[in-house]
Amino acid sequence: MGKVMLISGGSRGIGAATARLAARDGWDVVVNYARNQDAARSVVAEVEAAGRKAVAIQADTGNPEDVARLFTESDAAFGRLDAFVNNAGIVNRMSRLDARDPADLQRIIAVNLTGAILGCAEAVRRMSTNHGGNGGSIVNVSSVASRLGGAGNYVDYAATKGGIDSLTIGLAQEVAGEGIRVNAVRPGVIDTDIHNDLGDAPGRVARLGATVPAKRAGTADEVAETIVWLCSDAASYVSMSLMEVSGAR
Ligand code: NAP
Repeated sequence: MGKVMLISGGSRGIGAATARLAARDGWDVVVNYARNQDAARSVVAEVEAAGRKAVAIQADTGNPEDVARLFTESDAAFGRLDAFVNNAGIVNRMSRLDARDPADLQRIIAVNLTGAILGCAEAVRRMSTNHGGNGGSIVNVSSVASRLGGAGNYVDYAATKGGIDSLTIGLAQEVAGEGIRVNAVRPGVIDTDIHNDLGDAPGRVARLGATVPAKRAGTADEVAETIVWLCSDAASYVSMSLMEVSGAR
């Protein structure tokens, strides 16, 4: 039976790229999505075309009941879990913090932080040898924003990613003796749809990409390669790392 990777936010961007590369490397994949069922179905079709199994599961990771249901539906589909890619994330429209609507603050914390923490707990309950599991790997998708801070634009988003880094450091130590490795990737400017949600002028990715020391934005595939490697046995002694995938940004 193939190893199973559950990817939150697997229908587009970095999550979708991770699903495709995971299938290439022999993983079966759970593709979680929030709204975009067509995109999720097309990722499932690509995984199947690569000869692996996949299911699409709708669940809003900003809703605790949905996070629990995502994992039980994944159990029903595959009966095992070997890797959890904690990728679902949102941004608010760019603004200073003192102009931020409290409802938008609550939503970004619910999706990017509470949902991510709950997802880790569900994954540990399934993979930890303390719970009868076989061990596994968790990769949390953070951001360089966690160390840059996002001043003037998205301090709220940066703070959620700072929380993801702390989650990674603490949980990695908590479950290292139970067969689970926990790492984070910190992408820089990556060419995905998420930039359209910031309310910035068109051409944001190219404009910002030119300011990166590597002189370009990264691709979703470049982040996905790192994630899939972190999930693999080739990374068997890598845990608690916060891996920059940022062209030196
Ligand atoms: P994206 O292209 O906007 O894709 C977001 C994915 O997450 C979609 O599959 C979306 O599902 C899903 N999603 C959004 N909200 C969700 C929710 N509440 N519940 C479940 N799924 C949800 O974004 P991306 O750029 O690939 O970002 C992925 C991760 O990378 C995020 O955590 C982001 O913060 C991080 N990141 C991105 C960049 C960058 O420059 N792109 C840089 C640093 C970090 P639907 O298709 O259903 O909407």
